[in-house]
Amino acid sequence: MQGTPVVTRIAPSPTGEMHIGTARTALFNWLYARGRGGTFLLRIEDTDRARSTPEATEAILRGMDWLGLDYDGEAVSQFERADRHAEVAHQLLAKGAAYRCFSTQEEIEAWREAARAEKRSTLFQSPWRDADPATHPDAPSVIRIKAPRDGKTVIADRVQGDVTISNAELDDMVILRSDGTPTYMLAVVVDDHDMGVTHVIRGDDHLNNAARQMLVYEGMGWPLPVYAHIPLIFGPDGKKLSKRHGATGVAEYQVMGYPAAGMRNYLARLGWAHGDDEFFTDAQAMEWFDLDGINRAPARFDFKKLANICGQHIAAADDAALLHELKAYLAAAGEAPLTETQETLLGEAMPLLKDRAKRFPELLEKARFCLVERPVDRDEKAEAQLASVSNGILSELTPRLQTASWTRDALEGEVSALAEAHGMGLGKLAGPLRAALAGRAATPSVFDMMLVLGRDETLARLKDAFP
Ligand code: GLU
Repeated sequence: MQGTPVVTRIAPSPTGEMHIGTARTALFNWLYARGRGGTFLLRIEDTDRARSTPEATEAILRGMDWLGLDYDGEAVSQFERADRHAEVAHQLLAKGAAYRCFSTQEEIEAWREAARAEKRSTLFQSPWRDADPATHPDAPSVIRIKAPRDGKTVIADRVQGDVTISNAELDDMVILRSDGTPTYMLAVVVDDHDMGVTHVIRGDDHLNNAARQMLVYEGMGWPLPVYAHIPLIFGPDGKKLSKRHGATGVAEYQVMGYPAAGMRNYLARLGWAHGDDEFFTDAQAMEWFDLDGINRAPARFDFKKLANICGQHIAAADDAALLHELKAYLAAAGEAPLTETQETLLGEAMPLLKDRAKRFPELLEKARFCLVERPVDRDEKAEAQLASVSNGILSELTPRLQTASWTRDALEGEVSALAEAHGMGLGKLAGPLRAALAGRAATPSVFDMMLVLGRDETLARLKDAFP
C-alpha cells in the first residue's frame, strides 16, 4: 500500500473506562495520520452486546475530546454494520474460503475430549470442512473460515519484525454465528477494509489475532494493511499497568488536572522516542512520529515524568488557551464554574501562575488570591505571618498605598520605605501582606498580586486583615 494516503483508526471496545493504553494507541494512530496528511478514524467496537455499554462509548468520546485527538467523520458503530459483516461471510462461503459447520457444541466437546486423550492438538477440526453442500442437513450452522493446516504464516510487523506462526496453531475460526451475527474477528477485518484503513497500529495483545484476521483478507482477496503491534504499558515495577500502580482511566487524569498537551507529549514518549527529545509540541510530534521509533520493549509508566512534562506544557501554554482549559478542568472535576470577576482576574494573573504548576489544582492554589472573596479566609501559616508584625506598623501602609501610583516600582518603593522606617527588611512585611491578600503563606509575588487585584480590592483586603 505504498504511496496511498494513510488511513489509521482507533477501534476501542466500549466495555468500561477509557484506558490510558487505549489513549496512547489512539495518539500513535493520530500522530501517524496527521503527520502524513492522512485520515484518522474512530470505530466503536460494540459487537459484543453483552459487554458494550453506552456509558463506555460516552467515556471514549469524552476522552478523545479531552485529549484533542480529533478524528475524521463520524464515529463508526461496528454493531450497526452487522449486515455487511454477514454479507462478507457469505461471500467467503461462495468463494470456498469458508464453509458451513453443523457440529453442535456437544460434538465439538466430544471431539476435544478425544483429542486430549490421544494427546493431539485440541483445536477443533470440523468434519464439515470439505463436505459436499449437497450433504448439508437442514439444521442451524455457523460459518467457519478455512485456515491452512500446514506451513507457516508470517506477520510482517513494523514494530515486532517478521513474526512467524505455525499454521497448525490456527483453527477454522467461526466468522458467523448460527444466529447470523458476526464474530469480532470477522467484523474487525471487514470494517478496516471498508473504512480504507492502511495501517493497523494497536496493542501487541492483538498480534496473534493478526494471523487469523489475515485469513479473511486473503479469502476476500483484499490487500493487507501495514501492521504495527505496540507493546503494552507497564507500571514502574515492570508489571502490566493496573490500578495498583495508580490511575489507569483517561478520565481520572483529566480530573487530576493534567493538561491535555502534556498528556499527549508524555503518552507519545511512552514507547516511542525521537532521539533524546522529552518535551515537544504536537507539531513536532506529528513531524517526527514514525513506526520505526516505537520501542519493542514495553514502556514503564513514570508518574514523575508525566508531572514534569505537564509542568513544562503549562508554563509554555498560551494564557487564553490555558484559561479555557482550566475552565474545562473545573467542569470535569465537578468544581464550581468561575465567576466573571474570577475569570477576569485569573486571565490577568495567568503569566504569574504558569511557572512550576504541574497540574491545574496547583495552578489554582497559586491563583487563590484571584478566586477568594472578602473577607479572605486564612490558614494557620498565614495567621502566623500576619501576627509576626504589629497591626500598627501594617496599617501605616494604607495611606501610602492610597496615593501611590499603581505600578510595580511604586508599590515596591512604598513597602520598602515602610520597612526601612521600622528598621526591618522588605521580606518581613511580605509575609503578612501575602496572608492579607491571599490567606496563604505561599503565593505569587506580593506586588504582582496587588497589580492584578487593583487598588480598591488591595486596600479592602488589607483593611480586613489589619483594621
Ligand atoms: N477492539 C479492540 C480493543 O479494544 C481493538 C481491535 C483492533 O485495534 O484491531 O482491544
